[in-house]
Amino acid sequence: MPTCPVCAYPKLEEPPHAPSGGGSYEICPCCGFQFGVDDDDKGITFDQAREKWVKGGMKWHSKGIKAPKIWDGAKQLEGLKTAKPPAKKHK
Ligand SMILES: [Zn+2]
Repeated sequence: MPTCPVCAYPKLEEPPHAPSGGGSYEICPCCGFQFGVDDDDKGITFDQAREKWVKGGMKWHSKGIKAPKIWDGAKQLEGLKTAKPPAKKHK
């Protein structure tokens, strides 16, 4: 499953952006970032969104989707730092 580039939540339904560049319009249940809207329309970078989320106390965003039973936002972010960048596809 795709990982959220903002908060490192590892279970997004779809990749944040299609290979063509279009956003998924999925809202990350963890940080609330909406791909294709917050980034493409509002011009918020993943780094800016992450900073805001961290400053806000790394709260779980979604009310419809529950946070995993054992969930630690800070620990999750560690995964983002250590994760390998996604391999680029060659045409
Ligand atoms: Zn997220």
